[in-house]
Amino acid sequence: MMKQYYLGIDLGGTRIKMGIVSDGRVIARRIVPARSAHGLAAALPQLEEEMNGLMATLPEGSKILAGVGLAFPGLVNTNSKKILSTNAKYDDAPSLDLEQWVTDKWSVPFAIDNDARMATVGEWKYGAGTDTNDLVVMTIGTGVGTSAVMEGKLLRGKHFQAGCLGGHFSIQVNGRPCSCGNEGCVEAHGSTWSLAEITREHPLFPQSVLSTADTIDFSVLFKAAAGKDALALEIVKYSMDVWSAGIVNLIHAYDPEVIVIGGGVLHSADVIMPYIREKVKKHAWTPWGTVDIRPTQLAEDAGILGVVHTLQYSI
Ligand SMILES: [Zn+2]
Repeated sequence: MMKQYYLGIDLGGTRIKMGIVSDGRVIARRIVPARSAHGLAAALPQLEEEMNGLMATLPEGSKILAGVGLAFPGLVNTNSKKILSTNAKYDDAPSLDLEQWVTDKWSVPFAIDNDARMATVGEWKYGAGTDTNDLVVMTIGTGVGTSAVMEGKLLRGKHFQAGCLGGHFSIQVNGRPCSCGNEGCVEAHGSTWSLAEITREHPLFPQSVLSTADTIDFSVLFKAAAGKDALALEIVKYSMDVWSAGIVNLIHAYDPEVIVIGGGVLHSADVIMPYIREKVKKHAWTPWGTVDIRPTQLAEDAGILGVVHTLQYSI
């Protein structure tokens, strides 16, 4: 049988990750900066060029593309393959017919689904969750993405939003306003987009090394905390408490035996993982035992592998 090659795209808010997948492995990849605030229509010509560039790296004679999968940061109707709702990223996307675009350009099958859900399929089938059929993945980045597999079934729900909105579980009543319209969300208290605001509003900010940083993200924050900056130490602890509270909610909602954490914050896994494990163990109601909290195994490839798997096996 001829080898099949798929192209998976993970459309992030700040970076677009693309990979050629064959036999459940990413064999070539490309990462380009995203300009999600400018919309998706404006990004399509560049995306097409990058995709063609990636396909051109395949060895001569095997330039056979079997399909294109897209992991999108928003709510997606996987039947109609239309984007239903966005949240401050690619806000023009619901008006686009991406299946038509793929058909016009490459004449191959197309699948599209929520990005966190596709990262979950990736970890479940090829990564940190291959030994379980009950898992939740939480990806901490620009926002906080989640998704769940229960008893071997990937949750989508009647309106395609089941499992996906863990970043918008309320963890604080009368909390910070969120971009989703709710307040006190995990994202509003523990994501890259809210971190700079939280840091700058703090009374310790003027004395902190963070006041001299050009941008404040988690890598800058954890570095300052390692240098014993008082504000950074406090916000690191606060952020980990926020993620832990979110994970306890996810456990209470979806009854998983494994939680996989992904995202750039895992560069500080040595600080984060023991803290979250301890905190969650103390607070989650799981009389059957302890939920196993693990770091991602696939990192940047999770969404790419997940969406290609979903396309290939129609899950
Ligand atoms: Zn929210």
